[in-house]
Amino acid sequence: REGQPDRFVVIGGGISGLSSAFYLLREAKTRRREAIVTLVDPSERIGGKINTLRKNGFVIEKGPDSFLSRKTPIIDLARDLGITHELVGTNPAAKKTYILHNGKLHPMPPGLVLGIPTEILPFVKSNLLSWGGKLQAGLDFFKPASKDTGDESLGDFLSRRLGPEVMERVAEPLLAGIYAGELRKLSLQATFPQFREAERKHGSLIRGMRANKRKAAAAPASTANLPAAVKDSVFMTFRGGLATMLDALNEALAGVERKLGVKAVAFRQNDPDTDGQDVPPYEVLLSTGEVLEADGIVITAPAFDAAELLEPHMNVDALKAIRYVSVANVVMAFDKEDFGVEFDGSGFVVPRSEGTTITACTWTSAKWLHSSPRNKVLLRCYVGRSGDEEVVDLPDDQLTAAVRRDIREVMGITAEPLFTEITRLHKSMPQYPVGHLQETAKLRTKLRSEMPGVWITGAAFDGVGLPDCIRQGKEAAVGVYKSLIG
Ligand code: FAD
Repeated sequence: REGQPDRFVVIGGGISGLSSAFYLLREAKTRRREAIVTLVDPSERIGGKINTLRKNGFVIEKGPDSFLSRKTPIIDLARDLGITHELVGTNPAAKKTYILHNGKLHPMPPGLVLGIPTEILPFVKSNLLSWGGKLQAGLDFFKPASKDTGDESLGDFLSRRLGPEVMERVAEPLLAGIYAGELRKLSLQATFPQFREAERKHGSLIRGMRANKRKAAAAPASTANLPAAVKDSVFMTFRGGLATMLDALNEALAGVERKLGVKAVAFRQNDPDTDGQDVPPYEVLLSTGEVLEADGIVITAPAFDAAELLEPHMNVDALKAIRYVSVANVVMAFDKEDFGVEFDGSGFVVPRSEGTTITACTWTSAKWLHSSPRNKVLLRCYVGRSGDEEVVDLPDDQLTAAVRRDIREVMGITAEPLFTEITRLHKSMPQYPVGHLQETAKLRTKLRSEMPGVWITGAAFDGVGLPDCIRQGKEAAVGVYKSLIG
C-alpha cells in the first residue's frame, strides 16, 4: 500500500512484544516508512513476566530478577533507551554460591560453568560428589564424541558425558533455575547447544567448556564501555529493578497504541483479490469485538495462547508440545538486627533428592545491594519445578510455613519477617522438548510461506532469557518487514 503507513499488531506486551514494537518502529525509520503499531495484552500492565515491586525502600522482583551481561541484545537495548547509567552488577563480596547436599550447604566448586566443571582441582576436592561420581566425570576426557547429529535430552547428554551424579547433584539444580525443568525432558539443542558443540569439537565436554571460557575471556565484552563497577559482573539489572527498562520502553513507545486488558482472540487472512477492493492483508479480532487491520502481526504470547490463535490456520502440534511449568516465589524482608545470620555469598540451589519445598534461595540483599535498605535483609525462595508443581497452589499460610521450615533447617533462620510477598506464576516456564528447534522451524517456515507478515516469537522459541527475548523481538521486526517489502 504505497504512500500509506504500515500497520502492525503486536500480540503480547511482555519483553518480546515490547522489543518487537520498539524494533518495528526502528526498522520503519531506517526504511523511511511510517508505521502504526498496536500492542495488545490481556493484562492491565505491560511487562509480562517482568514485575518489579518497589516497597518500603526495597526493590522486589516478582518475576525475572537480572540477566546475563555477556548477552549483548539487552545491553544494546539499554543503550538505545539511554539507561545504561542505571545498570548495576552483583555485589563482588557475595560471589560464593552454595548447593544443598545431605541437608548441609556446600560451596559450589570454583570453575563451574553452567554446571560443567572447568577447573579440576576444586572439583576433585569438593565433597559434593562421591569418588565414583568424580571418576565418572573424569571419563569425559576419554570417551569419544557421539557421531549422532540429532537432538537428545540435556539430561541424557550430561549423564553420558559426566555421569548421572554430576547431572543430578550439580547441573540439574543449577540449570533448573532457568527452566524449572527435568533435564531428561529438555532439548539439548534448544537449551545448551554449546555443550554438544564442545563435545564435537574437543572430544570432551570439559575440555570444550574450558576452551570456550578462554575464548570468552579474550573476546571483547559487550559490557566493555560500561562503568567499571558493573562491567565485570556476570549478572546485571537496573538500580530500580527491571521495571526501569519497562518504564523506558513505555516512554520510547509513546506513539504505540496499547490495548491493555484486551485479548487477541483470532485473526483472519484476507484474499488480496477480493473484488479489487483495498482490503487489509490481515484482521485481528479482539476480545472487545474491535477489529484491527494489519499488514503484519507479531505473536509473542506463550505457546499455548499462540496455539489458540494459529490453530484455525495450521497444524500447531509443535506449539502444543511445549509444556509449561508453574513456579512461585516467596520473598521475605527482615530487620537485620533480628536476623542473626550473616551471608557470605549470594544464595544456594537445591537438588531434587534433598526433598525440601524450596528449589533455591537467593540472599537478595547480599547479592544485590540496591535491593534493600542497609539495615534490612531480603530473601527470595523459589518453589515448584517440573514434577513438583502442586506446591505452587498451597494456601499462602501453608506455603510460607513450608518455606520458613526449610530456611530454618538449612540456615537456622528463625526471625519473624517484616512482610512476605508471594508470587505464583502459573504455566510460566516453557520446556523445550527434544526436537524443538526442528519442529518450530517447520511451523515458522509454513507460516512465512502461507501468511507472509505474520511472525511468531518469544520465550517459547529460541531462548527464555531476557536478552534472548529481546533478540527475538528484533529478529521479528526485521523479518516481518523483509517479508512484506523485501
Ligand atoms: P511473557 O512475558 O509471558 O509475555 C507474553 C504476553 O502475552 C503476556 O503478557 C500475556 O498476557 C500476553 N498474551 C497471552 N495471550 C494473549 C492474547 N491472546 N492476546 C494478547 N496478548 C496475549 N530470564 C532472565 O533473563 N533472567 C531471570 O532472572 C529470569 N528469571 C525468571 C524467573 C521466573 C519466575 C520466570 C517465570 C521467568 C524468568 N526468566 C528470566 C525468563 C524471562 O522472564 C521470560 O522468558 C520472559 O520475560 C518472557 O517474555 P515474553 O515476552 O516472551 O513472554
